[in-house]
Amino acid sequence: MVDFTLSKEQVLIQDTARRFAENEIRPVAEQIDAQAHDTDSWAQCRPLFEKATALGFTTFYIPETYGGAGRGPIDGAIFMEEIAAVDIGIAMTLGATMGYPMFILVAGTEEQKQKWLPALCDGNLHILAGAQSEPDVAGSELFCPYPDPKLGLHTTARRDGEDYILSGAKAGFITNAGIADAYFVVARTSMEVAPSQSMSLFYIPADLPGLSVGKRTQMLGMKTGHHAPIYFDDVRVPSGNRLGSEGDALAILGAVLGQGLGAPFVGLARAAYHYALNYAKERRSWGKSLIEHQAIALMLADMEIEVQAARLLVWDAASAGQNRNPSVSVKAMAAKIYAVDVAIKTAQNAVKILGAYGVTREYRASKYLCDAITGYALDFTGDVLRLRIAGRLQDPAGQASGLWS
Ligand SMILES: Cc1cc2nc3c(=O)[nH]c(=O)nc-3n(C[C@H](O)[C@H](O)[C@H](O)COP(=O)(O)OP(=O)(O)OC[C@H]3O[C@@H](n4cnc5c(N)ncnc54)[C@H](O)[C@@H]3O)c2cc1C
Repeated sequence: MVDFTLSKEQVLIQDTARRFAENEIRPVAEQIDAQAHDTDSWAQCRPLFEKATALGFTTFYIPETYGGAGRGPIDGAIFMEEIAAVDIGIAMTLGATMGYPMFILVAGTEEQKQKWLPALCDGNLHILAGAQSEPDVAGSELFCPYPDPKLGLHTTARRDGEDYILSGAKAGFITNAGIADAYFVVARTSMEVAPSQSMSLFYIPADLPGLSVGKRTQMLGMKTGHHAPIYFDDVRVPSGNRLGSEGDALAILGAVLGQGLGAPFVGLARAAYHYALNYAKERRSWGKSLIEHQAIALMLADMEIEVQAARLLVWDAASAGQNRNPSVSVKAMAAKIYAVDVAIKTAQNAVKILGAYGVTREYRASKYLCDAITGYALDFTGDVLRLRIAGRLQDPAGQASGLWS
């Protein structure tokens, strides 16, 4: 039997997240949205994240045995929807910090887990980031199935005794670059073999000599987020900081990819829908409220349907993750693709329902649209994720391409 009733504990998580988002995040996010794009807003955001740490949000998925909150993917989906309904930029900073320890859980040795996970749960704020995209390489190249070693990422990790020397650069889109305390970095341990077999994953403290971060990137939306390029100038990394074996990065990424990324876009879509609904009830035209005009009412009905459908896909993927069902990978990608598409369409409809007010900065509809479209390429475009699902359909075990985890 399928039952979508939330448990008492899940209702508590939802309420706590909603209150935190409304009382703590909203005032800061609104302040940042109103200021110039190039203002450095981390000083405004940091106290929020310190409070989130004290409440156990940043260590949400780390098992209790290592000192974390020990929550699962369904709890995570419920939590992230609430945070992102208020501000998706802050949700992404928090979500990355919550989610990246999954790499350690999925691929780390017990020694690595003991070394890093309790340290992340020491009560201090530890912002995390993941870096694979590169400036001169298509971000989608990460999934290039062709064996040509010249294709794919160019950042290298050259073995030198007990260490690796990392050289290269990561694109200006890295979420949390510049504010992170540690980075999960994908680099090639060989330029002689296919990218899919030579990408390796490293856990790199932000203060290692040779690692630097460039100017913060200004994006169309997610103004409360922090995105910047990272440079590796012969960064010496101990081999004990490699997660999994050499060449395992794609499999590790595949095991975690997209999980948790659909939920924030459900929150964003829901917020845009409710905003437009309230407006349509109040604004009058031809002697009636907008919602009494069928063209508007049908648009709102579609928004309601699609937000619900996106939430169900997200919860279904989260349930597969919780039950360690192998279908989780495809379901999580499907949920992310659909939720982002729904967020974009819903925000666009919200702008239309507000008429000219929809494109002014005084009304939030335009913020929702800018935030939603900014999410399209975040952690791989919808089309590239669709190609990955199609690859699974052709080659379910991944034997032909060696791509699937
Ligand atoms: C808000 C935001 C946050 C991000 N955060 C991070 C982060 O934390 N870490 C990180 O490493 N990266 C991050 N990224 C980068 C993101 O993962 C890449 O932007 C994404 O993978 C797309 O890469 P690209 O921009 O180089 O586009 P390209 O790969 O150049 O693609 C351009 C277009 O071509 C299409 N395309 C490309 N290849 C194919 C193909 N083979 N077949 C069909 N169509 C194709 C794409 O769908 C897209 O429409 C972030 C991006 C954004 C927008």
